[in-house]
Amino acid sequence: MAIRSQEPATTSDDLVAELRAWLESNWDPDLTVADWWERLGSSGWASPTLPANAYGRGLSRPEAALVGSEIGKFGALGAPAGLGLLLAAPTIATHGTQEQIDLYVREIVTGKKAWCQLFSEPGAGSDLAGLSTKAVEVDDEFIINGQKVWTSGGQNADMGMLLARTDPTVPKHQGITWFAFNMLQPGVDVRPLREMSGHALFSEVFISDARVSKDAVIGEVNNGWAAANTTLMYERAGLGAGGSGGGFGLALPGTKAGHLERRVGDFVVKVDQTQRRGRARQARAAASNMYVALAKGNGTWDDPNIRQQLAQLHILTEIGRFNSERMKATRSSGGDIPGIANIAKLLMSDIVRLSRDVGMSIVGAQGMLQTIDPEKQKVLDEATGNPFLSGITASALMSPAPSIYGGTDQVQRNIIGERALGLPKEPRDDHIKPFNEVARGK
Ligand SMILES: Cc1cc2nc3c(=O)[nH]c(=O)nc-3n(C[C@H](O)[C@H](O)[C@H](O)COP(=O)(O)OP(=O)(O)OC[C@H]3O[C@@H](n4cnc5c(N)ncnc54)[C@H](O)[C@@H]3O)c2cc1C
Repeated sequence: MAIRSQEPATTSDDLVAELRAWLESNWDPDLTVADWWERLGSSGWASPTLPANAYGRGLSRPEAALVGSEIGKFGALGAPAGLGLLLAAPTIATHGTQEQIDLYVREIVTGKKAWCQLFSEPGAGSDLAGLSTKAVEVDDEFIINGQKVWTSGGQNADMGMLLARTDPTVPKHQGITWFAFNMLQPGVDVRPLREMSGHALFSEVFISDARVSKDAVIGEVNNGWAAANTTLMYERAGLGAGGSGGGFGLALPGTKAGHLERRVGDFVVKVDQTQRRGRARQARAAASNMYVALAKGNGTWDDPNIRQQLAQLHILTEIGRFNSERMKATRSSGGDIPGIANIAKLLMSDIVRLSRDVGMSIVGAQGMLQTIDPEKQKVLDEATGNPFLSGITASALMSPAPSIYGGTDQVQRNIIGERALGLPKEPRDDHIKPFNEVARGK
């Protein structure tokens, strides 16, 4: 159970005072990362939006954001970031038993285990419910066979949120189960895929006769679609357990990354640097100002095409901001704007693409220079006199990602058309036919 020393705070000032008092008596830079996260996670400060029975404090999103920034300001390392905190913890808190929460959520909020998401397959991405990885029940466990792909962080994961088909004789949404799956077992082969960015952020995962105990079914057997929808809801909204931003990015959770036994204070120095880079990234995302300064600096400001792109970028960014304010205001009064989250995601894809184009237009031929090695990046930045170059080229190479993950642009448009505008759905019967009778390519 979550250890709570006091009653929950009632105002922002109370909340900050309670957190500061806790940090004063618990933060110690000479602890190991594991020991610090044990304290942070078991106190509920690592996952403030989760309920108290799931190692949280039942705080709202804005309150959780405040917690994150206060931990950062205090100079302590923040919560163990990753898909565990973002997706697995809230899903298990919603659909799991108390025993499962005490096992899996506890390991996530204290950073002991890192998680990945084993949803997409070569033949099932947008149509996720068409997945064909099999889970066959044998005695008190399931035997798993299949292939997953696009598995972000698969190389460092101890555990996976596995969706597998447990009944192919019923319509596709009704025969799926959500498992807490041990990645570190025979029969799990994780093969990193190198992207054009130069990084290998994802892997493909081949699963051959791997095992998962019945105790690791989250929700009910064949009712995994409900749990999957919770996971996807958190993914689309980019929410999660409300983990604080104070130290995200550098100390990695889990047994494979090798950070748990290191001195936590050493990560805080680096965290400060990350936050500085993070702010630079935010400036790039807000974009207009930095691009305007760059364009003014290198003379491209006089190019009418670039001026027009800059104006467009500013307009789209402002529209995004207004939409987000409108969404917040409507939700805080208990209302909803159908399709607004899908519209926000589409707009983000547009902004990222336009940022890529305007950035590349401004830096010109220098945009062909790219490296992921931090030392070489410094050399490049110095040689070109543009400290933002590496960031601009890196963002350009990652620009296709937002229009794919969390539902592609086309899928967002389908949802807006069908659910928000009430347009007729495409004629189909694959959601009512038994899965094993639906024609599939292969
Ligand atoms: C950065 C990144 C990280 C990711 N991380 C993970 C992860 O950790 N775990 C995981 O499980 N997955 C992950 N994914 C995978 C992601 O969820 C899928 O790529 C996504 O759901 C799309 O599926 P797909 O790639 O199979 O494309 P497909 O579904 O095959 O789509 C191919 C094309 O067809 C279009 N299309 C498909 N269906 C329709 C339709 N009905 N109407 C109109 N157009 C359609 C799509 O828009 C797309 O252009 C990640 C993806 C990215 C980019």
